Amino acid sequence: MQCADRQATLVFYVVAGDIARPPRAKGLPDNKKNKLIAILDDAFSEWETQFADEASAQFDADRVMLIADLNRKANVDWVQVEQGWQEVYAQREDDWREAFVPLISGLIVRQGEALNALFGLEFDVQNLFALQWFNDYKLKFAQPIWNTNREWLSRMLQQAQLEGWSIPEMEDQLGAIFRVWGDQARAEDNDLLAEWVADRLPQARRELIARTETLRSSSAGSFHLYKAWGSPMKEWMATGDDRTRPSHMEAWDNYREGGLIGPIPIDQPFIIGGYLMMYPGDPNGPIEEFANCRCTVVPYNPAWNMSEDELAEVLSESQIAKPGA
Ligand SMILES: [Zn+2]
Repeated sequence: MQCADRQATLVFYVVAGDIARPPRAKGLPDNKKNKLIAILDDAFSEWETQFADEASAQFDADRVMLIADLNRKANVDWVQVEQGWQEVYAQREDDWREAFVPLISGLIVRQGEALNALFGLEFDVQNLFALQWFNDYKLKFAQPIWNTNREWLSRMLQQAQLEGWSIPEMEDQLGAIFRVWGDQARAEDNDLLAEWVADRLPQARRELIARTETLRSSSAGSFHLYKAWGSPMKEWMATGDDRTRPSHMEAWDNYREGGLIGPIPIDQPFIIGGYLMMYPGDPNGPIEEFANCRCTVVPYNPAWNMSEDELAEVLSESQIAKPGA
């Protein structure tokens, strides 16, 4: 563990001791929990539009590159076209990732500084990006987006083969699909779309991507910040309205103070709908467990729930007192 981490960890425990008095608080005190949620909400409002605009720009670039590749083909062999596109797909998946990294890290820094201030901690948020998790996050980031793209392009090519589309017809379909996804569709695009495509095409992808990825970056950033601080445990918190997934309501019932399981060690995964997830939006979970998820991971420290004497006892004997060890 680096020095900066260790220092932050030690400071965290001193501050935690202060938070515990008086009286015996339950986990993170409600007022602090509310401020934490407000910081995450602010980060979301500040960044969602930028994520949405970037999604539009990337869908537009996808369209341009696929059509350019299509125009290099002399004749209509859709199987060959799909093979040729594999390289474009890989390139575009990388491009999406590179385009979003500054937004993801920008959000994490701004939000991290606000969270540091809330807890009275000094931790260099930039340190988070040198850790392995950020590489893993980046690698997985564009996969769900491109899985959907690939699936749709493949279906479209099957349809083209079935109906014997010409290259200009394919160009029209491609153009319309990517403009719909990027929220830049023109009035004639909807008429242009082959009926089969128009009936089934997933819409509002720009909004879904912006919302999901903004919330997910926020969640990943806050989780790894709590971890770097040395927070020993975590809770899962859902918004608890009628849009909350049943599996995430269940997670809230399980993983909160006084819940069926209660807060769990920070390095232990939550079990969410049968999947292991370290935090809401964890890219290791399936997309159906993170698309549009508005849940929050909350740091939990048993010291916040102890008397001064109990805290002194814990600090003197347990491994919690030696987070760097
Ligand atoms: Zn959720």
